Amino acid sequence: MSHKRKMYTLKEVVDQTKQDGKATFLTFQHDVASSLLFTGDDVGPLKADKNEALMRLTERHYPDVLVPTATWSKPQARCRVCSKKGVRRDVKTICSSCPSKPGLCSVPCFKLWHTQLHYWE
Ligand SMILES: [Zn+2]
Ligand SMILES: [Zn+2]
Repeated sequence: MSHKRKMYTLKEVVDQTKQDGKATFLTFQHDVASSLLFTGDDVGPLKADKNEALMRLTERHYPDVLVPTATWSKPQARCRVCSKKGVRRDVKTICSSCPSKPGLCSVPCFKLWHTQLHYWE
């Protein structure tokens, strides 16, 4: 029976969590979130996109502001959300927690990027 099998699987996870600690449970959460959000093969460049999508949607990220340096006096980044919508907008706000450190308008694009799988819609 599928119900019984499900309970058993959950018990396995709990047992494993007790053995390996928090990291295993977090990995498990990621796997579940991953299977809920995405289908198909994790291959090629798509995998990086999926990983970033998973991180931006499941982790808590805070905006960072680009600060001028000696070699880059006017730091700017292209807003990832706006450029996906066909709008070119240079911003100072980025998310340094996302793997690609995308530029994002602080409002509303930062929130869209981190809450919408299809942030361009
Ligand atoms: Zn982020
Ligand atoms: Zn934007």
